[in-house]
Amino acid sequence: MITIALSKGRIYKETLPLLSAANIVPTDDPDKSRKLILDTNHDDVKLLIIRATDVPTYVQFGAADIGVAGKDVLLEHGGEGLYEPLDLKIAKCKLMTAGLIDPKPRISGRLRVATKFTNVAKRYFESRGEQIELIKLYGSMELGPIVGLSDLIVDVVDTGNTLKANGLKPVDHIADISSRLVVNKASMKMKHEKISAIIEQIGKAVNNE
Ligand code: AMP
Repeated sequence: MITIALSKGRIYKETLPLLSAANIVPTDDPDKSRKLILDTNHDDVKLLIIRATDVPTYVQFGAADIGVAGKDVLLEHGGEGLYEPLDLKIAKCKLMTAGLIDPKPRISGRLRVATKFTNVAKRYFESRGEQIELIKLYGSMELGPIVGLSDLIVDVVDTGNTLKANGLKPVDHIADISSRLVVNKASMKMKHEKISAIIEQIGKAVNNE
């Protein structure tokens, strides 16, 4: 059995053609079904439909052999127990700091940074030798600077329209993001033949070979 962990939405839609290049085709539609485990055209290949931020955890602990996760999610997770053999070059965006277009001068104290990417933010500001106060949020980070909760946010940015619509601007680039194929390290050894065939076929599809 090979299990592949995916999240609904953009990643699922953009991964489908890549899976189909490896002749893996789901027989259920996650938008129409409430099932969390989807069957495919192979009896021994299943898809797990889970939250994007949970994908690395399922793969790390071997609950899924393979996963598709954004590099933002992988950087935040840390990547322990995972191989990252392929950049799928889908769902591209950037991880950035952002702040008010017209920031008010800071009086004193440490820079406050609100984000759901607390591990990434901690490492980034530490690498710059900046001491910050980290505020963990779970969503709508753009509100932070507007209501005075924080000076900056760390978030993924694509067109920048969401920032702009909220009176924010991108400040510093932290990392380029795209979705990656990740593989459980033990699965890679135990199920080497099947998994390396899947990696090879998806890799060819990514590079349009
Ligand atoms: P934007 O195009 O910058 O207005 O992006 C809108 C929102 O979509 C951002 O705030 C992100 O939360 C989200 N977003 C955009 N691109 C991605 C991506 N590749 N992966 C995850 N979230 C994204």
